[in-house]
Amino acid sequence: MSQTKETTHFGYQTVNKEDKVGMVANVFHSVAAKYDLMNDLMSGGIHRLWKRFAIDCSGIRPGQKVLDLAGGTGDLSAKFSRIVGKQGEVVLADINDSMLKVGRAKLRDMGIAGNINYVQANAENLPFPDNYFDLVTIGFGLRNVTDKDAALRSMFRVLKPGGRLLVLEFSKPEQEALSKAYDAYSFHLLPKMGQVIADDAESYRYLAESIRMHPDQDTLKEMMEQAGFESVGYYNLTGGVVALHRGYKF
Ligand code: SAM
Repeated sequence: MSQTKETTHFGYQTVNKEDKVGMVANVFHSVAAKYDLMNDLMSGGIHRLWKRFAIDCSGIRPGQKVLDLAGGTGDLSAKFSRIVGKQGEVVLADINDSMLKVGRAKLRDMGIAGNINYVQANAENLPFPDNYFDLVTIGFGLRNVTDKDAALRSMFRVLKPGGRLLVLEFSKPEQEALSKAYDAYSFHLLPKMGQVIADDAESYRYLAESIRMHPDQDTLKEMMEQAGFESVGYYNLTGGVVALHRGYKF
């Protein structure tokens, strides 16, 4: 008797759930070497301001423990490492070893060492103790995760009571006019830039599609509440192109 396999989306494609993780892995193996350059070019450098805003909202202090989940090439980890200092701890966790390798080399070149550990892990099933971190961040990572609810529950588990989660992610533009311009940019220009700079149009087409398939601001807020987070709120950045969600574990 044939069993029906559970499906999910990979960009606009419907795929078997068990296949998505490998497809996402291929995207990030392919873009890892050019990831930082493409981020600067695609966003005109604005991703640095979005990340700066997330750090300003983190409330992080010297001596605290931070998990930078889906941390990739380590932009957030680099900043947190400096803030938490010698008595603190930063874990840069990512499912993809190519992204981790680029991140580790970059941070080492920046002179960042001592309070940072690199861990290959799936957000859905984090290999850390309960009630361990003061802060968990996931920057531009959640939309790539197959089971987002399981990932949010896992983040909740590893946070200390009083700890908080920050989700920085592409979201839904507030204005229709902005939405149209953004669609034109991401579906036409982005894959072309990906082709010229990273020799990979497909991965950047996936990027555009995965953004459209990601839950909007209010849906993500509800998902965080379902996972146990309280006092959940969000800030729209650049007219809602990106949103920063914050929730607490009490
Ligand atoms: N946080 C970094 C930043 O903001 O520049 C990197 C973001 S990058 C767009 C997305 C990252 O999510 C990739 O490094 C990818 O490997 C990672 N990722 C995708 N699925 C994941 C999962 N299930 N668990 C952990 N990391 C995952």
